[in-house]
Amino acid sequence: MISWLHHVGEGLGSFAVCRGAEAVLPGPDQSFREEAVLQAHLRQTSGVPGAAPPHYLDAVANVVQLISTVDTISGIELLDKCPGYFIVGECKNGHRWAKELYCGREWCPVCGEDDSMAHVRRFARWVGKGQQVVSMGYFVFTLPEEVRGRYRSKAKLNELTKQVTCGDKSRRIEGLLKSMGFDRGLARWHWFGDKSTKWHPHLNVIVEAGFIPQGQLDAIRAAWAGILGVPDAVVNYSFTTIVPKMVHILKYVTRATFRNYKWDEKMAGALYNFRNMRSWGKWDGPVVWAVEGKAQLEPIAKLESGLCPQCGEVVKWGHAQGIARLQGEVLVPVGAGYWRMADIPPRFELPDDVKSRLYLMKLAHLAEVRVLTHKVRVDLEEKRGNDAEYQAALWRDLLN
Ligand SMILES: [Zn+2]
Ligand SMILES: [Zn+2]
Repeated sequence: MISWLHHVGEGLGSFAVCRGAEAVLPGPDQSFREEAVLQAHLRQTSGVPGAAPPHYLDAVANVVQLISTVDTISGIELLDKCPGYFIVGECKNGHRWAKELYCGREWCPVCGEDDSMAHVRRFARWVGKGQQVVSMGYFVFTLPEEVRGRYRSKAKLNELTKQVTCGDKSRRIEGLLKSMGFDRGLARWHWFGDKSTKWHPHLNVIVEAGFIPQGQLDAIRAAWAGILGVPDAVVNYSFTTIVPKMVHILKYVTRATFRNYKWDEKMAGALYNFRNMRSWGKWDGPVVWAVEGKAQLEPIAKLESGLCPQCGEVVKWGHAQGIARLQGEVLVPVGAGYWRMADIPPRFELPDDVKSRLYLMKLAHLAEVRVLTHKVRVDLEEKRGNDAEYQAALWRDLLN
């Protein structure tokens, strides 16, 4: 487990050596040629992705939505290997970051791999929460085969997730675990079992809990069966206080399971943009155990939540650009496909009170100038008037 974190570190090392497009652009790969059609669609529907708005990911969204309406995504494929694109973000203090764009699809040959950038990003988002848990409880809610057909849309899966975890007050959904006193937790669906390619959704839920008496487990199981409307449904539970095991659970739950869209093409389309990483409750407590590699994961987690790791300010991201443009930039690796870029020098800003005093001075000065200009004009006109009078008198004298 810890070795995985070492792996993250190793990855950083190799990226540091060969920065730029060569480091991130893989060579030609047979499996990607299959994906040419989607790329063609992408260009047709949204122009060349990345060159200008719309964003690359929006372009993909359009295409996938288009595809999911035709019932299947067979034959529709991607030419580019992730990451084909990157975006640059900047906070108000001029700290700049490059983020490689990964499609994050579980069946992407790059993103779907264990320890992929997408996987590390998901893990980084959760590990800080996991570290607040002294004893980690791990539920797996499974669906009996006869009801799996009912949960084949985003809406249905969303609803089911809420029913199991924290509920939804606005929609009057009661959350099974929250109502039983699990005040905070993390939830994520796996779509297939480890060794099967048959649609087999099961909801992984991580909570703060230790030993749960059989009576309460039975009650949870009965409530779950009740939600599904079946006489019996399987819920597995285990817990651990051993740190490497907790890390393993976090890593395991955040891994991809839908490793090939051909396993269930309709669901591959239906799940587009499904928010699979859920957390509920407050996660602002103290960290109670350390994780190796945490120093590397923290900035990744910050950037994942849209904040600058350097100063904590919001990072504003620009439009997608082709990954080749990263070449030639001075980059410091952050990890998981993030890079620190050279800062923009901070804009010179004066404190507010100084600014307002300067403004008043400016107003006063303007007023002075106006008065002076007026005075000069009056003097000038007076002088001109005097001149005119003198000239007139002169001519009068000469002529008469
Ligand atoms: Zn991908
Ligand atoms: Zn910053």
